Amino acid sequence: MIKKVILFLILISTLTGCQNNEVVSIIKKDKSMISIHYPITNVKSLNSSINSYVNKIYKDFKNIENNFNNPELNISYTYKQLNKDIINLSLTTQIYTDKKINKIKTFTYDKRKKKFLEIEDIVENVKTLDYDVKQTILEKYKEADMDFLSNINYDYFTIDNRNLTLYFNPIQLNKQNEFINLDISLDSLNLLINIDKEKDNVPDIKPKEKSIDYNKKVVALTFDDGPSKYTKEILNILKKHDSCATFFVVGNKVEFYKNDLQRMIKEGSEIGNHSYSHKWLNRLSKDEFINEINKTQEIIKNLTGYLPKIFRPTYGGYNDNLKTYTNLRFVLWNVDSQDWKVKNTNKILKNILPNVKDGSIILMHDNHSYSYEALDELIVELKKENYQFVTVSELFKIKELRNN
Ligand code: ZN
Repeated sequence: MIKKVILFLILISTLTGCQNNEVVSIIKKDKSMISIHYPITNVKSLNSSINSYVNKIYKDFKNIENNFNNPELNISYTYKQLNKDIINLSLTTQIYTDKKINKIKTFTYDKRKKKFLEIEDIVENVKTLDYDVKQTILEKYKEADMDFLSNINYDYFTIDNRNLTLYFNPIQLNKQNEFINLDISLDSLNLLINIDKEKDNVPDIKPKEKSIDYNKKVVALTFDDGPSKYTKEILNILKKHDSCATFFVVGNKVEFYKNDLQRMIKEGSEIGNHSYSHKWLNRLSKDEFINEINKTQEIIKNLTGYLPKIFRPTYGGYNDNLKTYTNLRFVLWNVDSQDWKVKNTNKILKNILPNVKDGSIILMHDNHSYSYEALDELIVELKKENYQFVTVSELFKIKELRNN
């Protein structure tokens, strides 16, 4: 019980932290698998609406988790700055117990008007929209409930450069647990707000040139579950020691850490794919799995011009079938820092140093401060033992060259 209370307090304190343009990221596995991600914006009232929504879901989940095997809570988000004043944000929740529950919640906030916007503030003639939507729903979902159709609401929507997407929670529309979304082309609507077109110039970043002695000992540092506010500090330490690492990033966060991702490539580190929303892979359908991979590939490519070649399974677990659905190479580790568990520099070093061998892959995490605090000393110690730091892909290449 004490543990539960403490965890909850940690969550609350994380939720109420108020920084701009950070992502709150909680990934842990104990009684349950929990992966919660959402942004902290520079709007207080928006942050507090998000916090109370997430807190409620978390609390409800904690109350029922003991009744099930392998329960899982996953909250992911989308964030879009529509123009300099208006933010549109969605939170999607999946809860796995003996069934799967999907929820969606969206927020649209106008900083200039200091208010949350409804569909009526965005689209000129909602009546026309309403007519079209009902027609489409009736065609698509024969089982759509007439009560639902007559009381249909447009509380949940996201907007990108092409579409207005409307969401309906499953309970409102059909008996299945998938929520339903309808894309409506922006060209077919009269909008009451301006939407800035994104400039999607893919940057052309030159990766750092390196010289590696294939005959000398090598080791690969890897960081999972980032990026986060600590990633920058980790990159600074790597740069100071002219070393590198491989970052297995969670796709839904990377847009907030664009500079860090670009630095990874520029400064000789590697970016790997660690899925989009950090769900337990064994539960996903083929399409869901491919979607988790591809969304992450696409967003990394757009931000850095680099396309990852390696994938690290979430929670370290997967079945071999999944490997046939992607060209990415699956990468685990052979030295585990246990940083998230021991939370202490000396213990982290003790978990790593005696176990490192030529060709080791070391697992650490960059979504908390523990590994970052141990990193400087770790690099110094390994350099004393004449290790060269390489990325995971370089490590594979070296092993191949040595075998030939
Ligand atoms: Zn992970």
